[in-house]
Order: sequence, then C-alpha cells, then structure tokens
Amino acid sequence: MKTQIKRMQVGEGRISGAISILLGALSIAALLCFKFPEQFTTPEFREVYTAEIVENLMFGGIIATFLFGLVSLLFNKNKRNATIGICLGVLTILLGGFKVEGRAVEEVRWSIGLDWLILDLLLMVLLFVPIELAFPKNKLQSKFHEEWRTDLIYFGISHLAIQLFGVLTKKPAVAFFGWMNLENVHQWVSELPFVVELFLALFISDFFQYWAHRFFHSHHYLWRFHSIHHSTQNMDWLAGSRTHFIDIFFTRSITYIPLYILGFSTLTFNVYILFIAIHAVLIHANTRVNFGFLKYIITTPQYHHWHHCEEPEYYGNNFAIVFPFIDKIFGTYYLPGNKWPKGTGLIDASFPKGFVKQLVYPFTKNPFKNDLLPEERSKR
Ligand SMILES: [Zn+2]
Ligand SMILES: [Zn+2]
Repeated sequence: MKTQIKRMQVGEGRISGAISILLGALSIAALLCFKFPEQFTTPEFREVYTAEIVENLMFGGIIATFLFGLVSLLFNKNKRNATIGICLGVLTILLGGFKVEGRAVEEVRWSIGLDWLILDLLLMVLLFVPIELAFPKNKLQSKFHEEWRTDLIYFGISHLAIQLFGVLTKKPAVAFFGWMNLENVHQWVSELPFVVELFLALFISDFFQYWAHRFFHSHHYLWRFHSIHHSTQNMDWLAGSRTHFIDIFFTRSITYIPLYILGFSTLTFNVYILFIAIHAVLIHANTRVNFGFLKYIITTPQYHHWHHCEEPEYYGNNFAIVFPFIDKIFGTYYLPGNKWPKGTGLIDASFPKGFVKQLVYPFTKNPFKNDLLPEERSKR
C-alpha cells in the first residue's frame, strides 16, 4: 500500500515555496553554464538560444525566485521552503547572477547538457504544473509522492548525458546503413512540403518505436529493463522519465534508423524533437484533459495510462507513442470510451527504490517474484 502524501492546494503558500526553491536551484545551475559554458552547455543546443535570451531568463529567474519566496512567506506558516528559496536567490546574486554575460565558447570534445536540463525542466514545469493543478486525473496524488526524487534523478541524468546518448543513438544507424548512398532519398525528402515531411518523420519513427516497444514487452530479458518504466504507480509529467538506459539506448537507436535513412531537414528534425519531448511528457501527465476527437488521431494521457495499467488483463495494449492507428493496424488498440484504468504500475513485480539500485538490478535479477501465467506473459 502506498502512502498518500497530501496534495498541495493553491492558496497555502506551499506551491510558491516549492517553485522558489526550484527557480533558485536552476539559477545557480544557470550560473555554472554562464561561467563554464565549455563544460556545461552543449554545442547543438547552443544553436537554439541566444546570449540575450538566456541573460534575460537568468534575470527573470532570480526575480521570480524572490517573488515566489515572498508569496510563500506570506501564506505558509512553515517558512522553511521560502527561506531556502530566498537563500538560493541571494547566493546566486552574491556569485554574480545579475552580471552574467553570454560569451564565445571554445570547442571541446565532451560536455554536460546542463543548459538542456535547465531549459527543458523550466518549460515542462511551466506547461505541466498548471495543467496538473487545474485538471488533475488523480485528485489525491501529490507531485511530491514517495518516488518523485527518483523520477527527478532519471530526468536529470538523461538530460545531463544528452551528448553521450546522442552519440550512442546514432552509432547503429551509421554502422548498418552508413555505406549506402542515400543522396537520392535525401533529395526526395527535402522536396516534400514541411507538413508532409514532419508527418513522415513522426510516423516512420513511431512505426519503428512501436515494434521496439513491443519487443521489449515480449522478450523476457528485455522486459526486465522496460518494466522499470512501468513500475511507477504515480503517473505524472515526471514519471515518463523513469526509463532504464538500456531501454533508452535501444529504443532511440531503432527510432533513429529511419530518420537517418530519410535524412530530414534541420527544421523538421528540430520541430520533431520539440514535439516528441513535450508529447512524451504529456501522455504520462496526471491530467484528465482528453483532447476531444483528437484522441483518435494522436495518443493522449488516457491512451498511454491504459498502457501503464496495473491489471494484467489489459496488458499488451497501446504500444504506439504518437499514432493510435498503428495499434489499430496490429490489433493492440484499447481505448474504452472515457474510462481510465483503476491503477497504474506493476502488481506482480518488486523493484528496489532509487536510481542506482534500479540501474543495476535488471542485469542481475528478475523483478517478478510470482511468474505470470504463460498466457498473461505472452500478452505483454
Ligand atoms: Zn511499455
Ligand atoms: Zn510510458
């Protein structure tokens, strides 16, 4: 039985306290990026923003740290979080937070994606915290449930190691298909209208991901790794990050193969990445927003929550990440009206808690203490 932690409500000063700490911590991290851009920012991501944008963001972030801290001081009897947030804000200023300037960056071989972590975390908080507050699916679930720290570590590591994952993801595609002359294919793709190109990128990668995902469910040894992703009982915008690196590496590598072969334009590729980054978070979010008729065209939280359903009779459905029609074609589609699963997680598995233990565990042990019946297994 999981312990229920009291959900934060607007007006208590607890949300503002948490936001003040988050922004204070992100401001300190941003300071590192400004001071040591070679080590803490990624060349690909630096193309996306300008020095002026990040300088303004830094300024706004520090001011907002204090404002949210003050709101929390006023409304919350417990002053701890507000004090921590304000102290982080003061520390950022003392270390030069108001005087930061973007500068030319020397090329280095390896860097940590701290800039990607800060900006993506900020974007996700801005998008999903209000949605989960205003339109929650599970009204009792707190953002600060028992495993939120573990999920945040998954989020952090996968972002910080973005360059390493990028290099590894591309290797299989280049090794197997690098010898082919793909110029004609690339030429053909580049002449397609942008919308068609984007749809093609989303569809072809989702088609490959569908089979990779299904393979992870049906192969016993691989299921050990993918089941980590299914182990969360508290679905929310951070929960989808809980993915083992073996799962990330294989799935992304396979998904990258058609993108590599077809050679999409930089614009299409960047829009594709942005869409996937937001959409993957959305489908795990704790929100009842269901997008009307769009839910038949594109996957929604309801659709993917059914994939995470804890009742074995519904296992083995909704493998597609973007387009439900792929599940329809292959007989794995399940979307019963406006019904949602009772619970999510794995009732038949026991995973150790924490990132490091979960990292090692699937290599050595099977998390399933009671083996499922063969017919239930084959459904995964
Ligand atoms: Zn799955
Ligand atoms: Zn998922």
